[in-house]
Amino acid sequence: MLHLLNTPQREAVVYLGGPCLVLAGAGSGKTRVITQKIAYLIEKAGMNAKNIAAITFTNKAAREMQERVGALLPKEMLKGLTVSTFHSLGLKMLREEARHLGYKPQFSILDSADAAKIISDQLVTTDKQLIRSSMSQISMLKNDRISPEKALNMAQSEGELQLARLYTSYQDTLFAYQSLDFDDLIRLPVDLFEAHPEVLEKWQNRLRYLLVDEYQDTNTTQYQLVKLLAGVTGLFTAVGDDDQSIYAWRGANVDNLRLLQEDFPKLQVIKLEQNYRSMARILRCANAVIGNNPKLFEKKLWSDLGVGDPIQVIETKNEEDEATMVSMRLQAHRFETNGKYSDYAILYRGNHQARIMEQQLRGSRIPYVISGGQSFYDKAEIKDVLGYLRLIANEDDDPAFIRAVTTPKRGVGNVTLEKLGSYAATRNVSFFAAVFEEGFIHQVQATQYEPLRQFCDFINRMQDRADKEPAGPLLNELLLAIDFETWLYENDEPRPAEARWKNVLDLVAWITKKGEEDGKSLIDIVQTIALITMLEGRDEDEVDAVKLSTLHASKGLEYPHVFLIGCEENILPHQNSIESNMVEEERRLMYVGITRAQRTLTISYCGKRRRAGEWQITEPSRFLKELPPDDIRISGRLAGDKSQPAIGKKEGKALLANLLARIG
Ligand code: ATP
Ligand code: MG
Repeated sequence: MLHLLNTPQREAVVYLGGPCLVLAGAGSGKTRVITQKIAYLIEKAGMNAKNIAAITFTNKAAREMQERVGALLPKEMLKGLTVSTFHSLGLKMLREEARHLGYKPQFSILDSADAAKIISDQLVTTDKQLIRSSMSQISMLKNDRISPEKALNMAQSEGELQLARLYTSYQDTLFAYQSLDFDDLIRLPVDLFEAHPEVLEKWQNRLRYLLVDEYQDTNTTQYQLVKLLAGVTGLFTAVGDDDQSIYAWRGANVDNLRLLQEDFPKLQVIKLEQNYRSMARILRCANAVIGNNPKLFEKKLWSDLGVGDPIQVIETKNEEDEATMVSMRLQAHRFETNGKYSDYAILYRGNHQARIMEQQLRGSRIPYVISGGQSFYDKAEIKDVLGYLRLIANEDDDPAFIRAVTTPKRGVGNVTLEKLGSYAATRNVSFFAAVFEEGFIHQVQATQYEPLRQFCDFINRMQDRADKEPAGPLLNELLLAIDFETWLYENDEPRPAEARWKNVLDLVAWITKKGEEDGKSLIDIVQTIALITMLEGRDEDEVDAVKLSTLHASKGLEYPHVFLIGCEENILPHQNSIESNMVEEERRLMYVGITRAQRTLTISYCGKRRRAGEWQITEPSRFLKELPPDDIRISGRLAGDKSQPAIGKKEGKALLANLLARIG
């Protein structure tokens, strides 16, 4: 097994003397160190799999890791191994320990749309920008472990005070709903462990060895969780690359890399320098770009996979043209090399860039899958069904109550619901509980009350069965009982309705499979659903399709051929980042993009682009100028197209001259 590793990798795998940090550039085998170390711990160091926890950044990465370890050791030896994201690990802990925090174990998990609704209600606004920024500020507070009380005490300005008040009422509402948001899944275990040392000890005994991938993107709470679990023995291995830290906007703190050395003076730091992923030219481009950022840690990266083709830089007239060029080149290349669609990835900075690309791919009959796009679980019909399931799991989940009681309409009017809402608020109970209180029953007429009562009785009956009966058939029965299919056809045109119903059937199939495979109850499944996306859940790797992904979602992955589109100022680097002096983070994103490529890399940009319905002249990204001229080849239409104002502005001029000379 160890022969699959180079010397420093092997050193990292066999080191068990204390905390260990592998600090190395992209494609140097950090993730491989983690998978091999899991196998080593079990097979050679005699550890029990159930005492090992590996933490990855996404569910997909967790599944991949599980598979890779599965290829190294027989299944029996892996029983009880934890491979999960920070969020699912937090969920697992909270489900067992919820009572210590005053929550019931069947708490709900609110997705960001539900959370936005709560904020919007509290601010009495529909201003999306305001809601979004309030949410991210609350999230930052949570990730810095500032409680609502502390936020109130710390507030120094009127603005801070307002935010602290909003945070307080938001948190109270969540508690009333017996719901947690994503940040709570990590923050609350930390609170719990600090308040209850005996609970911490139990988990330290259970998870004796921790391995953390993509360590550079941990935030303060995640780091604290690692620190608490690792305890004094400090038995963990973290791997990371400061040059790939791209989640500062979500509270990630690269400084955690430095803190690790401070908090664990015995930390063994191992560096890897050989890249096993990319051809030399790709690597030279990556090194050149990231070389423009100030360095935290000195790192070199080399590869002996050969020089490879020059990096293609293509300039295109506009977005449509870009999409056409990319799909044409992709087709041609695939044809020439007789390759598979799944060998190609198209990466971009923002989700909105996918739409035109998708249209083009569909038009050219190129199969594709999108990752990191709109989640399957965000689709209205899926949220409808999940509303029922959430309510069955946790009757105090008010957002789920409202969704379920009104979908399909069952004669419960808005006026009745408003009465119920204000009654529940004054009594400080959930909607569901209010339905059964005398005080409320007296407020409404029998004809209004009856359908509400029937609905709640139905949910109660389902609750009784949800723990005992297999998940799939029960869900089918529920859908029949509410006649969901008919409702979909009544509320939509036949074709979209058909597509919606198909999505619901996909969900049923998936839940059935989960129930059968893992013996999980409907309630277990519902609780984990919020953490995964259906796309992640599907075996996309088995289909032969081009992968479309944001740069963020491509982290840790690799593809033989990569197209990086929209390499323009204000896109990559993003306008907001330019304005707020965050260009270094954008450069890391560019570095992540380049280093996904194994054999070829093609970068494209447009001369103009539609923004808010109007054409805008765009400039090539400043990062293009950072690429080593000898390793790139430029082609395209922009320079030769007289109708185009070309690149225009001063910044772009030097590049254009350069480009023209090359095309010459
Ligand atoms: P990233 O920073 O992008 O997450 P990484 O450092 O985690 O990259 P891996 O994904 O572990 O790198 O490895 C990159 C590629 O190199 C993988 O295909 C892996 O299988 C291969 N690889 C890693 N180490 C070796 C080795 N010692 N010999 C051969 N191939 C290797
Ligand atoms: Mg990796």
